[in-house]
Amino acid sequence: MTTAGVSTDRAAPVVRRKVSVMTGPMIPLAEPNLGDREAALLAECVRSGWVSSVGPFVDRFERDAAEVCGLVGGGAAAVDSGSAAIYLALRAAGVQAGDLVIVPSYTFIATANAVAMAGAEPWLMDIEPESWCLDAELMRDELARSTERVAGEIVHRATGRRVAAVVPVFTLGATPDMDAVRRVADGYGLPVIADAACAIGATYRGRPLATTADAVCLSFNGNKTLTCGGGGLVLSRDQKLVERVRHLSTQARPGGSYEHDDRGFNFRMTNLEAAVGCAQLARLDQLVGAKRAIRRRYDDALVGRFGLRALPSPAWCESSCWLSGVLLEEGVSAGQTAASLQAAGIGARPFWKPLHLQTPYAESPRSAMPVCESIWDRVLTLPCSTGLSQHEQERVIDRVPTVLAEAVRRVA
Ligand SMILES: *Cc1c(COP(=O)(O)O)cnc(C)c1O
Repeated sequence: MTTAGVSTDRAAPVVRRKVSVMTGPMIPLAEPNLGDREAALLAECVRSGWVSSVGPFVDRFERDAAEVCGLVGGGAAAVDSGSAAIYLALRAAGVQAGDLVIVPSYTFIATANAVAMAGAEPWLMDIEPESWCLDAELMRDELARSTERVAGEIVHRATGRRVAAVVPVFTLGATPDMDAVRRVADGYGLPVIADAACAIGATYRGRPLATTADAVCLSFNGNKTLTCGGGGLVLSRDQKLVERVRHLSTQARPGGSYEHDDRGFNFRMTNLEAAVGCAQLARLDQLVGAKRAIRRRYDDALVGRFGLRALPSPAWCESSCWLSGVLLEEGVSAGQTAASLQAAGIGARPFWKPLHLQTPYAESPRSAMPVCESIWDRVLTLPCSTGLSQHEQERVIDRVPTVLAEAVRRVA
């Protein structure tokens, strides 16, 4: 993977920058990095007339993505969002209405919404401190304590619901300890569907991303390391699962006629989106290299000073470093700190709020949540677009201590 630093490739800037009167241009949190190649492939779609949900770029995107993610055998199905990818993978893996699906509480809400879309209910669990990902030991204990086997199925005693799958989330581009997750899931016969939406470029114990779960779901939304504008992908070594995802994403229509054999929907990626995606995939090493270099520079400049700690980089994986940032001292709010930085033209933001603290999932079954409750409102993400210049990053680094000093004074 290249570590050559941030890209200066801005050949076709489709980029609007908010301008603050006080401080000059706003440095965005994470904006797309698009160039001549993306523009050329898009133009090819327009010229050829292949703009909709079939076309040569969709096929090529599926092949190229499978290859760069290290898929051996099986296949890939391109869809129109990461959320749709998770939903479809769950259904293809056999999740049904009324089931429970194990999900970490610390995630983007799309993970649980995908479960809900399938008619199922998330069973929320805490994360472990090393990776901020699903705690496999906790999951093992919760399964042992709260479920029983009834006619070959795992039933959650308190709700009477069948437990049907596990969805580990690759937080900020780091992977959970997937061998540990796998061991527990295998003990209960549960399929593992990875929400790797922000993890393209990550590896687990030297193994490629595509091999980390029964199905691996990616997002190509505009805020991810690589983008299609909007898009998602399901990768699996199980060709049947991929075929079922494809089937459900195209209105469950087995042939060319208006005969349908299931309740599907239209979730297909368009050839326009796939064209952008093909151009982006060709730059995977460059874009992920830039993300990692940005993370390293923040770590070197900020971590261990001003009460700041690093975002997770667990020993078992190489993170894709989707977002950069820091964990603030106890008592210092990421929301307020981000607001102060924004006022200074720096697009910092707080990060995920655990799902058990959110209205739509407040009543979902859950474990105790000491780990995610202790970190979530102290996680501050900092500008980390792959096109971020060193000068811009220095502006961020210079500003953080000032803003923190003000925040600490407020607390005191
Ligand atoms: C971005 C993201 C999603 C959703 O992907 P979309 O393409 O925006 O639907 C889901 N889960 C995680 C962890 C994400 O970061």
